[in-house]
Amino acid sequence: MNDPRRLYIKSFGCQMNVYDSHRMADTLAPLGYVETASAADADLVVLNTCHIREKAVEKVYSELGRVRRIKEAAADAGRRVMVAVAGCVAQAEGEEIIRRAPVVDLVVGPQSYHRLPDLLARAARDGKAVDTEFPADDKFDHLAAPSGAAIRARGVSAFVTVQEGCDKFCTFCVVPYTRGAEVSRPVRKILAEVEHLVAAGVREVTLIGQNVNAYHGEDVDGRPWSLARLLRRVAQLDGVDRLRYTTSHPGDMDDGLIATHRELPALMPQLHLPVQSGSDRMLAAMNRRHSRADYLDIVERLREARPDLALTSDFIVGFPGESDGDFAATLRLVDEVGFAGAFSFKYSPRPGTPGAEMAGQVDEAVKSERLQRLQEAIDRNQAAFNRRCLHRSFDVLFERGGRYPGQLVGRSPYLQPVQVEAPASLIGTIAAVKITDVAANSLFGVLAAAPAQTPAPMPAPALLRAGA
Ligand code: SF4
Repeated sequence: MNDPRRLYIKSFGCQMNVYDSHRMADTLAPLGYVETASAADADLVVLNTCHIREKAVEKVYSELGRVRRIKEAAADAGRRVMVAVAGCVAQAEGEEIIRRAPVVDLVVGPQSYHRLPDLLARAARDGKAVDTEFPADDKFDHLAAPSGAAIRARGVSAFVTVQEGCDKFCTFCVVPYTRGAEVSRPVRKILAEVEHLVAAGVREVTLIGQNVNAYHGEDVDGRPWSLARLLRRVAQLDGVDRLRYTTSHPGDMDDGLIATHRELPALMPQLHLPVQSGSDRMLAAMNRRHSRADYLDIVERLREARPDLALTSDFIVGFPGESDGDFAATLRLVDEVGFAGAFSFKYSPRPGTPGAEMAGQVDEAVKSERLQRLQEAIDRNQAAFNRRCLHRSFDVLFERGGRYPGQLVGRSPYLQPVQVEAPASLIGTIAAVKITDVAANSLFGVLAAAPAQTPAPMPAPALLRAGA
């Protein structure tokens, strides 16, 4: 039998890329590829790139510089290493990547991963291969399912892509250009994938999509399902103990979806709901299609449905035209909502997006100063949320060993990491934990003697109406 070929995949960016990397590995497994944790050992190196953040393209080229040295060292030892660039930078840059970095053998966009085996053969034969098309066929039909061993190696919490692409065209965002139009996977394929995962031991499923709550996949009768209906159905599947979904757009948070937070015990009390700015003027310039008041109204209704809901968000500071007053409105929103955490970034223009061409680009020093103040406000709110968890008991899903022997790390219902002294046999199980200490980014606790309880509602921060 031939030695296995070693595959090293490095994922940048969002959960969608982590999921895609898994599916690429699954699709390459029948060719004899097994994953390795080191690029230096690999026969195939895949960089699964992200285009959302600043200098994403330059980061890829600098990573490719490191890969080039690995490839040259392997060639000196008589071994051929293939190098692939996948993901949103691949989609945006296409052949330019090979021109600038000849170390790259193939470039594959996110909608063509199922063609990887063919592309590899083409690159081996012709020297190079590029595929950044949006094929008409459903790539999910052609991507291989993970083996039970691969699922178990990835842990008890799994992502399932239910939707890809986006039609919202926020003026700062490249996703509609790199991932294409919004497409939802059919209901039965999602259910089959979830059943396959839980049969192999997965306990927590996160349904993911760039705009996941725009989901409208078809049932076998051709009728579209909403995300709410899909969540209700997935929650009924045996073995799905925990359910989450991300990332949502406020404009698609309808009543049915909000009601699932009240109705489904498996749906964890945590939601990532990007707002980007607290200023109506900026929200309009960003083409977000919702106002500050709309967002606060959604938050209020979500908290009525699930009072202890942990809300997290995304923010951009320094979008073109952002004034001190606009930024102050963002700071106020952070305190009004009381976010349990948030990602925040300085605006950086993405070529080809409307924001890049807008007048009123904000000075870098101003952006940096605003970002620092915003992050302080977010940290303050996150610390307050974590403090409210102190002395409470709730279920923790143990995912892996901790930094020290005898320590395990799991996730709270609110998605915080929780560190507990517990036997390794608890990995993959859910147990009640009493929180004894909190830090900025994680909680510490002890196994609770009592059986797991439904968490008592935490007092939600006061929700002040804008201008009130
Ligand atoms: S909704 Fe999200 S993915 Fe879609 S364009 Fe806006 S920021 Fe990008």
